[in-house]
Amino acid sequence: MAASFHNKILRVNLTDGTTQVDEPGAVYFRRYLGGWNIIADVLLKEVPAGADPLGPENKLIFAPGVLTGLPISGASRSAVGAKSPLTGSFGAAEVGGNWGAQLKRAGFDALIVEGAAEKPVYLWIKDGEVEIRDATHLWGQLTKETQTALRDELGDRRVEVAMIGPGGENLARYACVMNGLKDAAGRTGLGAVMGSKHLKAVAVRGTQSLEGADNEALRAMAREMAEAINSGAKGGTLHKYGTGVGIESGVLSGNLPIHNFRDGEFPGAINLSADVFMEQIGVGMDGCFACALRCKKLVKAETPYVLDPDYGGPEYESFGALGSCCGVDDIIAVSKATELCNAYSLDTIGCGVTVAFAMECFENGLLTLEDTGGIDLRFGNGAALVQVVEMIGRREGIGDLLAEGSLRAAEKIGGEALKYAVHAKGQEYPMHEPRLKRGLAIGYAISPTGADHCHSLHDTGLVNPGADGFAADAGLRTLGLLEPIPLEDLGPAKVRASLYHTVRSLAGNCACLCLFVPWSTDEQIRMVRAATGWDFSVYEHQKIGERALTLARLFNTREGFGPQDDRLAPRSYEPTTSGALAEGGIDPEALEAAMHTYYGMMGWDRETGIPSREKLAELDVAWAEVYLP
Ligand code: SF4
Repeated sequence: MAASFHNKILRVNLTDGTTQVDEPGAVYFRRYLGGWNIIADVLLKEVPAGADPLGPENKLIFAPGVLTGLPISGASRSAVGAKSPLTGSFGAAEVGGNWGAQLKRAGFDALIVEGAAEKPVYLWIKDGEVEIRDATHLWGQLTKETQTALRDELGDRRVEVAMIGPGGENLARYACVMNGLKDAAGRTGLGAVMGSKHLKAVAVRGTQSLEGADNEALRAMAREMAEAINSGAKGGTLHKYGTGVGIESGVLSGNLPIHNFRDGEFPGAINLSADVFMEQIGVGMDGCFACALRCKKLVKAETPYVLDPDYGGPEYESFGALGSCCGVDDIIAVSKATELCNAYSLDTIGCGVTVAFAMECFENGLLTLEDTGGIDLRFGNGAALVQVVEMIGRREGIGDLLAEGSLRAAEKIGGEALKYAVHAKGQEYPMHEPRLKRGLAIGYAISPTGADHCHSLHDTGLVNPGADGFAADAGLRTLGLLEPIPLEDLGPAKVRASLYHTVRSLAGNCACLCLFVPWSTDEQIRMVRAATGWDFSVYEHQKIGERALTLARLFNTREGFGPQDDRLAPRSYEPTTSGALAEGGIDPEALEAAMHTYYGMMGWDRETGIPSREKLAELDVAWAEVYLP
């Protein structure tokens, strides 16, 4: 067996307390690599059609990849997946930190949690052994209290903890799984699945070293990247400030969502720019396992809110969702709201956009002071934001409604509220405007997980030619995307770019590499070769991504999703009230045509979007045809 994986998948059944180790073989790992592919395989084969996402039939899968845990920048990542309680569709999110590397060092390539415990439990995994332990004393605790208690109890400060806070326990539909205090598997509500299983935490400690088949080659690549980052040749300002530098440019271009994606101007944006606020409240940077880029902000303040640096500072997505989207430009309030999300295990995007939705409802009289318990929930009220985030984590008052996410809350509120819910498949939009980036319009509409910015195309890099005349995005150029494409284009060239990008991103996801570390596709292939000893090719790499996307699509098909669900929120078809996008929204007919082109290019039925038998066979997953309608 190649060195960078163990051929061991741990299963824990919380209903009957049994455990088991599967050994699926090298072909399985070369066909899947990890991440989405493992999640889709389990969800299709083992979770019955129509299962309640919050019932014991759902499974929670922790799936690192064949690169996770190697001492290379970006190889910290792992994926978490389940049927999503937010969307009802394929649910998955990627996360950094140290937990995935520890799981690999403890001797396991993935963890599948089945059933549900009757009372709160946690898992203790150490060097190939697993125990299910009582967690009654941890239930109700915030994530920091939980992590501290577990490290004390287990007598080891190096124990890494994947866990939920009260948000996950209370089944907030966008609850996340926290790896430590700063890193979130944020999207699609996986923390609620963990809560539904009464699983408070998975504590892991591995003392085995993890090596690849060609350690010399891996070390050379790791060194080269670290030197490029340290010299400033790669990674830009991420090393110094993390994500979100120069946020004002997002106002000028229209990319930064303002007031629930309604408006185009926000003078306070400068206060939210990472370089500006890090000079005021930054106390350093932190990083994930073995990463030279270290893009994680640490912030500290005493007033008007106490900020605990252990919880990290806001990333771009967080200060967009909890900041400009809610009209709040007070960075200490935004940082406090971010900290509360990490403490309660809430996705900062889902939470921020849902609060922004509520603010718009409040300003339009659809929610009243009586509904909010006297909170003046208008745009820009930072104190109200902080208060409501905590209420969501506890499901108290208005927080109970908003913990359902913007779509379900809108359905309960009724009237015009549905117009203000900014989501795709029920998942709130990330902080990138699809009216500006049409690649994201395609991606948000079609992604099996609902609106997602990690594997959807940000096509601003494709607009202008590079010095050699080819499209400037080097990663896409090597996949054969040679000519620039206008930003507003939704034709076949944009669909092709969107699809290639998504497939390439999902392949990186399955290997479990961080998207912020600028590894080229070619370098990723060389890394997989050196890690596993396989003669892995760029062709296989692309097929890994196509397989993941098609299996996730098939899972959604089985759950009743179809073209009618590949839609954007009503807001995306209107212009903003002012600013760069005041001239018009997305043309729904052009987007509809793009979707059908996408289906056809993927080898799915052009009308229904259902993967064909032939495509499943071509992707070497013919077993999945039994799940076709
Ligand atoms: S670039 Fe940032 S998020 Fe990615 S692995 Fe490094 S520290 Fe973690």
